[in-house]
Amino acid sequence: MNTRRAEELAAALKEITDRIERACQRVGRSSDEVRLIAVTKTFPAADAAALLDLGVRNLGENRDQEAAAKVREVEELRPDTDVRWHMVGRLQRNKARPVARWAAEVQSVDSLRLADALTKAVRAALDAGERDRPLDVLVQASLDDDPSRGGCPVDDLSELADAIAQRSDYLHLRGVMAVAPLGADPEPAFERLASAAERLRRDHPEATEISAGMSGDLDQAIAYGSTCVRVGTALLGGRGLASP
Ligand SMILES: *Cc1c(COP(=O)(O)O)cnc(C)c1O
Repeated sequence: MNTRRAEELAAALKEITDRIERACQRVGRSSDEVRLIAVTKTFPAADAAALLDLGVRNLGENRDQEAAAKVREVEELRPDTDVRWHMVGRLQRNKARPVARWAAEVQSVDSLRLADALTKAVRAALDAGERDRPLDVLVQASLDDDPSRGGCPVDDLSELADAIAQRSDYLHLRGVMAVAPLGADPEPAFERLASAAERLRRDHPEATEISAGMSGDLDQAIAYGSTCVRVGTALLGGRGLASP
């Protein structure tokens, strides 16, 4: 491992954990309530391994192909480290099967059809010995009513959550996820997500996670109850113009 890069990542991680701590303090929350997912998409397995060396245990990816290869490489680099890989990006149904091999959690479940595809995929992966437990899932809420950015309309979340809860041999409903609308104040969106999460918890008390907040808006997300921030750029650096 390149020492310079390891030091750079250590400094960025310290900044992020301090930022999470301050955001929690401002609203009287404990930072133990907020998990950090390091979103390693477009960055090499060596960076992921360096983050593991720094104590990070939750890593996020948004494309199956890139993730599957990276997961294998990281396993070779750090065979004795337990890592939870999270699929945070849009997921096509035909990618459910490969994702069920490497993901501990899928945060972007936004339709019944995808939930069904994941159910079948997890069953097959369990049968094949490729995983040993159900898949944790978050239902992704659409906060901008733009279907091209993914997410389930807020009004349909409870139906989707009910369906997932009925497939509990394969899928464990853990909560909600959202991405704030582009180019708008994120606070009203996070507030809307918090009330959707609260409504969902009435029927599904185990669904306690709120995954919200990225490099640019994690402070606001924490103020509105986020329990999981997904950080790429602020930790690993810019991804360049061509990258998602
Ligand atoms: C890339 C990505 C992130 C991380 O975004 P940054 O702004 O780089 O921190 C978070 N969530 C999702 C769904 C992403 O695709």
